[in-house]
Amino acid sequence: MECKNHPGVDAVSRCEGCAEPFCSNCLVDISGKQYCGACKTMAASPTAGAIPEEATIPCKEANDALILAIVGLFCFGIILEPLALIKASKAKKMIAENPRMTGSGKATAATIIGSIVLVLWIISIILNVIAIAAS
Ligand SMILES: [Zn+2]
Ligand SMILES: [Zn+2]
Repeated sequence: MECKNHPGVDAVSRCEGCAEPFCSNCLVDISGKQYCGACKTMAASPTAGAIPEEATIPCKEANDALILAIVGLFCFGIILEPLALIKASKAKKMIAENPRMTGSGKATAATIIGSIVLVLWIISIILNVIAIAAS
């Protein structure tokens, strides 16, 4: 039995992934199992649970803030936009504290939309008050 990669070199073991014989130079030990170069990549992929702590977490608060800001564009802006602004600032704080958390772009978008809509609401309320006072 010779190594699949190295003709003439005796294989020491078989790969756990593809069951082909390989020499000691080709085999890599991953959590007690022997893999060849090709199978090693698959065995070490995140789906195998090897590196779950590197994964990023989408910030739910940023998502909520953006949804509130967008819904607020169409209805209940005077209520929804302040909520969106509060959620967005909470999200930014969470993202700043946790480098693995994503969604700062969403939080920023929610802040911008929220501020603009809120200002428009305040202007329209002031105009209404003026119109009522003038009538
Ligand atoms: Zn293999
Ligand atoms: Zn080999």
